[in-house]
Amino acid sequence: MASPVVVTHCGAGSTLEIVDAAETAGRAALSALDGGGRALDAVTNAIVVLEDDERTNAGTGSRLRIDGRAQMDASIMTEDLESGAVAAIEGVRNPILVARKVMETPHVLLVGADAVAFARRMGFQSHNPVTAAAKVRWKESLDRIRRGDLPPHARKWRDFRDLAGTVGAVARDSRGHFCAGSSTGGTAFMMPGRVGDTPIVGAGIYCGSAGAVSVTGHGEEIIRRVLSKSVYDLMARGRRTQAACDEGLRLFKKTIPIGIIAVGKDGAGEACNRKMAWWTNAP
Ligand code: ASP
Repeated sequence: MASPVVVTHCGAGSTLEIVDAAETAGRAALSALDGGGRALDAVTNAIVVLEDDERTNAGTGSRLRIDGRAQMDASIMTEDLESGAVAAIEGVRNPILVARKVMETPHVLLVGADAVAFARRMGFQSHNPVTAAAKVRWKESLDRIRRGDLPPHARKWRDFRDLAGTVGAVARDSRGHFCAGSSTGGTAFMMPGRVGDTPIVGAGIYCGSAGAVSVTGHGEEIIRRVLSKSVYDLMARGRRTQAACDEGLRLFKKTIPIGIIAVGKDGAGEACNRKMAWWTNAP
């Protein structure tokens, strides 16, 4: 019997003031593992808690696109390589639950209006995830673009990213099975239809018999480096979980915000080049 391990995070760059969210989600995951529950249920529970917490950039409270809409991405993957994801989905409360439903279809990823239609067919009610705080942040961002009030490193709009608040979870259950999941409202200054790393297997998440990895940060850079699979491959070749996370982080310049959580056969790992609210039950 393996000892259950859970790691959760609230996004690269998230304030440590919301570490209680990471802990509440982690404990919800652990309670799913009590009595032999599955890593899949643990990760699902954790991400539902984080999506429902308006302080995170996932589910309710997600960041808005430049046109003011919330389009969300989420994914989940188990060690037998089963996976489900949604991208640019709107009007649902818990994108991770829709992603989990996609797992039951022959497909891996559903996008946009068709993902919404699928969710409705599966019985997910209409829900407005746009909060007053998200609207205030969106208006501030638009004002800054109009004024050209951008930090020196971000003169180009495409380089000006305001991250923080994406959520993720990884778990190992008592049978030694793994699961990884992630959910996000994306970054600030996104075009409608933009899809980051979060719903892409190998980029935002990866899971296999050697462990589970979930990452956060600048989505386009993560996709280019296939970050989750890169970290996983190190673990599969025998690198300790923490060392694999550290090595994954070294693939990026320090100017690019990146966070990584993982669980492997030897326990948990975490690496981030920004502040990040995260939690684990592992020693
Ligand atoms: N990776 C997410 C994205 O690019 C953002 C984040 O993790 O904060 O959509």
